[in-house]
Amino acid sequence: MADTTADQDGIGNTGAGWKPSGPIQLAPINAWPPRPRETLKWLFGFPGYLWPYNAFWLGVTLITWAFLTPPLAAMQTFELWWIGILFARNFAFILLLFGGLHLYFYTFKGQGDGLRFTPKPFATNSRRFLFKDQVRDNIFRALTYAVPIITAYEAVTYWAFANGFLGLFSLDAHPVLFWGWFALLLLLAPVIHAIHFYLGHRLLHARWLYKTVHNVHHRNVEIGPWSGLAMHPVELIIYFSTVVVQWLLALHPVNALYQIHLAAFYPALGHCGHDKLKPGNKLAIDGGNYFHYLHHKYFECNYGGSLAPLDQWFGTFHDGTEEGHARMRERMRAKRAVNG
Ligand SMILES: [Zn+2]
Ligand SMILES: [Zn+2]
Repeated sequence: MADTTADQDGIGNTGAGWKPSGPIQLAPINAWPPRPRETLKWLFGFPGYLWPYNAFWLGVTLITWAFLTPPLAAMQTFELWWIGILFARNFAFILLLFGGLHLYFYTFKGQGDGLRFTPKPFATNSRRFLFKDQVRDNIFRALTYAVPIITAYEAVTYWAFANGFLGLFSLDAHPVLFWGWFALLLLLAPVIHAIHFYLGHRLLHARWLYKTVHNVHHRNVEIGPWSGLAMHPVELIIYFSTVVVQWLLALHPVNALYQIHLAAFYPALGHCGHDKLKPGNKLAIDGGNYFHYLHHKYFECNYGGSLAPLDQWFGTFHDGTEEGHARMRERMRAKRAVNG
């Protein structure tokens, strides 16, 4: 398959792993002064905010709702049969997506190792991981902790909508308002995810939460798709609580399902450990993967993503350049000085 060295947007693979050459850019919507043309192109162009990934995940959500979810009226009371259906299809989704990407990148080396951020193999015979094996640990955590927690959030959401505890307006009374709000919340879901993820992630780096909970995720210094949902159950509960924002705002369960799906699916690509899904083509989203890779490498930077400017505002943005490294070192020195 693709052999990748110097022709990509990077400094080449020198044996220490692939490193994109340019600084990581935030999404153009964060530019100041505003760059309207660039922002519009990013919003509606390809690749951009909607295309291909968010639109693809929305398609998955709509198909899931239409064909793979029991009717809302049947979910007024918690019953094992419909919760079992949700569980089975969530299990299948995670297995297919995370397992598929792992097979593609790491088993069959679908893109070689030229664009991998690190040359190191996944840990084996390591006491840091369950079964002393990083990949098995990651798979186990994703399937036995993440899938039930995703399913629980989803089941509670449908139950609450089915009983009228969620959803402010009826479709009959305010159809224009209803569908306008529905579309707006779909458009905003990735932004809601980005902001919630940043805040929850900063919380998880508080000393006691890091020690007891978040370090499970950070045992993965080399990352692969399965590392994405390899989290402590408490972290999973915090991470997927992004759907609570939709509980407060949404009028239709699909908004909540899309929010859950983004949280469930993003980490697969976010942790694939390779630059660009396919070198040389347009299926790349502004260095987002490298952005989070740097968080796993340096811990105290890049808590969010490139969609919202929160890392910049709070001084934790690492753009991947030498100056970025220097800024981070300076920040750590200052922090040590404050802490004595
Ligand atoms: Zn991570
Ligand atoms: Zn972290």
